[in-house]
Amino acid sequence: MRSAVTRRLSTDVLVVGAGLAGLYAALRSAHHRREVVLVTKGALQASNSFWAQGGIAAAVDLDDDPRLHVEDTLAAGDGLCDRAAVEVLCYDGVGRLYDMEALGIVFDRDLHGAPALGLEGAHRRRRVLHVGGSESGRRMAEPLIARVLADPRITVLEHTAVLALAASDGVCGGVHADGPDGPVLVEAGATILATGGACALWERTTNPPGATGDGIALAWAAGAAVADLEFVQFHPTALAAGTPRDGFLLSEALRGEGATLVRDDGSPVMAGAHPQGDLAPRDVVARAIDAELRAGRPVYLSAEHLDGGRVAARFPNLVEALAGVGLELPGGRIPVAPAAHYLMGGVHTDLDGRTTVDGLYACGEVACTGVHGANRLASNSLLECFVFAHRAADHAAFHPGSGTVDGAAPPAGEGGGPAPADLRRRMWLDCGLERDAAGLTDLIAWLDEQPDGPAVTVARLVSTAALRREESRGGHFRRDFPERDPRQAHRIVLTPERVS
Ligand SMILES: Cc1cc2nc3c(=O)[nH]c(=O)nc-3n(C[C@H](O)[C@H](O)[C@H](O)COP(=O)(O)OP(=O)(O)OC[C@H]3O[C@@H](n4cnc5c(N)ncnc54)[C@H](O)[C@@H]3O)c2cc1C
Repeated sequence: MRSAVTRRLSTDVLVVGAGLAGLYAALRSAHHRREVVLVTKGALQASNSFWAQGGIAAAVDLDDDPRLHVEDTLAAGDGLCDRAAVEVLCYDGVGRLYDMEALGIVFDRDLHGAPALGLEGAHRRRRVLHVGGSESGRRMAEPLIARVLADPRITVLEHTAVLALAASDGVCGGVHADGPDGPVLVEAGATILATGGACALWERTTNPPGATGDGIALAWAAGAAVADLEFVQFHPTALAAGTPRDGFLLSEALRGEGATLVRDDGSPVMAGAHPQGDLAPRDVVARAIDAELRAGRPVYLSAEHLDGGRVAARFPNLVEALAGVGLELPGGRIPVAPAAHYLMGGVHTDLDGRTTVDGLYACGEVACTGVHGANRLASNSLLECFVFAHRAADHAAFHPGSGTVDGAAPPAGEGGGPAPADLRRRMWLDCGLERDAAGLTDLIAWLDEQPDGPAVTVARLVSTAALRREESRGGHFRRDFPERDPRQAHRIVLTPERVS
């Protein structure tokens, strides 16, 4: 039965979120013999991670090198990546794959027993490892969930939404949450936010409804700095509006295997638009498709010319999901349109996941280490989850703790719900693939009139950053400033003192 009295729990390390970053951070913290509490607002299986399709990028092939992976990541980031963070990602990443295998994740193999490697946009080498074809996220998460549940050092609180950090004067000592048994205050020596991204704040999205950016709002309310929030990656190929599964993702790995984007008459959409054609950076492909749609020309993903058996083996869940809505892969053409997919920005951290609030760490999509710059290279985000969860946990496990926290007044509020439909519509219209000063100014004024909540806070931060960047770069396109401006090759970091 629900209690009105706040329960208190105490732990060494508290992890918020059960995607791949949170699960791995919990296991790594327990590896250091720390007591861990893992809190998540849904079931352990409810996360963006569970939905990931293409796989995880790492330079493991004989003709590849982490140096090349660094260069590709920097090129995709369009001048705004933090090189040190990118080097950590690409060099540490290879080692994390061995850890993943040790945890029971079995990567798909080719005929010679080597890891089967997929190709995705803006990668110069085949370097995307996958598990179960396009079921990579679920098949990576399941072995980790089993280990988390079996580990006596880890206490799991499912269906428990964190509503506020127990933080004051720049120090975090845990969280206030609300779950099936009522309010709970979890006191912790260190708190790791792994709450994922915010792309469910847009009307058209590939993300599950829970991806509302809660961690950004929680950290912001506690005084943490946030960065790069104007950079939103719109995936070019989600199922188009009007189909029964509007927004369902069609992995870029399909184009890596040779699928192409075509018009009604079969002519290729990307011919002449970019030297990399169908595998150009996502922002370029997404805007090319958007331009076609605005001109009233539907765009299709076509795999008709590919080997049917091969497609079925590589993308089993896509073939099945599309069949469920009457669409045939590879036999038929699939109508596609861009959708909000990934937030490059987030809570500002250093290379050990430390935020600007003492005792508070962040890793995975909620964090902004600077690895993605203005645009994320495909399949680098799952790698980021493992590389930076590992580093954050290694640091957090030895954080000395912050003393006691004030648990007297659990905050009122709701957590865990989807973003309001009118907010999602406004974000799509005024802070979508293309933005301008007039739309962003209107949007911010509208947000200022809405009742406070995490979705409104994050939407306001994203649109404020988008208004400030008066140029176009990576995942941020300004209709009124369509060119890249070399004088703006710096990151926008917002702190509560500098934005009211
Ligand atoms: C359809 C799809 C396909 C993708 N495919 C790929 C791919 O092939 N390769 C790749 O690299 N990337 C891919 N991505 C991106 C990638 O999946 C994500 O960036 C990554 O999984 C994020 O992991 P995470 O652990 O940071 O967050 P998530 O996996 O989103 O997990 C966040 C967790 O935090 C919990 N949470 C949130 N708020 C609260 C709160 N207030 N209180 C308590 N708990 C909370 C959630 O319930 C969830 O458990 C894909 C994304 C999508 C949507």
